[in-house]
Amino acid sequence: MDYGSACPVDARVIETMQPFMETAGNPSSIISWGLAAKKALEDAREKVAALIGVDNPREVVFTGGATESNNIAILSGAGSLKDKGNHIIVSAIEHVSILNPCKELMKHGFEVSIIPVNDQGVVDIEGIEKAITDKTVLISVMYANGEIGTIQSIRKIGELAVQNKKMFHVDATAACGKIPVDVTADHIDILTVSSNDMAGPQGAGALYIKRGIKLDPVMFGGGQERGVRSGTENIAGIAGMGKAAEISMNDMKENAIYTSGLRDKLLDGLASKVSDCYITGSRTDRLPNHASVRFSYIEGESITLNLDMMGVAAASGSACTSHTLKASHVLIALGLKHEEAHGSVVLTLSRSNTEEDVDYIIDVLPGIVERLRMMSPLTP
Ligand code: PMP
Repeated sequence: MDYGSACPVDARVIETMQPFMETAGNPSSIISWGLAAKKALEDAREKVAALIGVDNPREVVFTGGATESNNIAILSGAGSLKDKGNHIIVSAIEHVSILNPCKELMKHGFEVSIIPVNDQGVVDIEGIEKAITDKTVLISVMYANGEIGTIQSIRKIGELAVQNKKMFHVDATAACGKIPVDVTADHIDILTVSSNDMAGPQGAGALYIKRGIKLDPVMFGGGQERGVRSGTENIAGIAGMGKAAEISMNDMKENAIYTSGLRDKLLDGLASKVSDCYITGSRTDRLPNHASVRFSYIEGESITLNLDMMGVAAASGSACTSHTLKASHVLIALGLKHEEAHGSVVLTLSRSNTEEDVDYIIDVLPGIVERLRMMSPLTP
């Protein structure tokens, strides 16, 4: 139940990728192997474009993943407009691959407004409106948060960006393939898409860049991918991402109905069986496959390690990793105290999960929580 951290690649995706790992064709080459690679590249571009409501596949460029797409969006998006202004607006719960490039730009004279969220992780749209100035060049807000599952009212923020003539970037890493994303209807100028989050391979991603927007390159070289991201494309990975986009588009509705049933059973089951267990994020505007809770007095890491020993993969939150042991900035932004933020567990589902899986978690987790609470000095 950790599909949001790393998703196994769909068998149909592996089948699509296989020929491009066995034959070597460079899509920039004019020989037949190159043309075959070029065709695979353009097929994948069409499929990713279709998933996000884009008519012209040329508006999609491939990258090495979501972090890279987000870095390009912030560094090149704001950087290419530096003559017009030096102000960026982001939400407080953006992924670090948005927040850290913003910090980098601050070293070069940019100012960043970080807009708060409410206790369910919903971004304060009025706060965005008030923060916009003549110097604002970019607004970046995520479609859905990978740690708490909350979905934002992206269309309303897009309308605000249009009214104020500001560039609008959306990180749709956790949303694409799970819920409908339509860049045209949502007034999005730049959009981040991740392959692995849709059961495609790791190491591939994409960026929708609306026609007319010229981003400065981040890689300098042969000029591939509209000159934004030079370097020979990862054809097998991209072909896989295209197939994953096609599958998730076709299966989106069915998957959402299936996983949201499991998600609700999981959330209700845990909240009713364990005392001092609280759902994090929004109950209503929530990714269909996403369940996240927090348990008072104990640490999410201890819970996930105990679940691991019982054969369950889960996460404790994306920023709060075993490497840093820092409380997650997302949970702190919800208004939680540090000790409350430490007790978080994130369970992300897919079509492969069953009712039995959910029953198993509801069965074993209360015992794990009870044991850890008995050992915790924080337990009253
Ligand atoms: N954005 C969001 C919303 C995420 O949840 C993540 C992590 N899956 C990323 C960006 C970065 O993804 P990656 O580590 O695959 O580059």
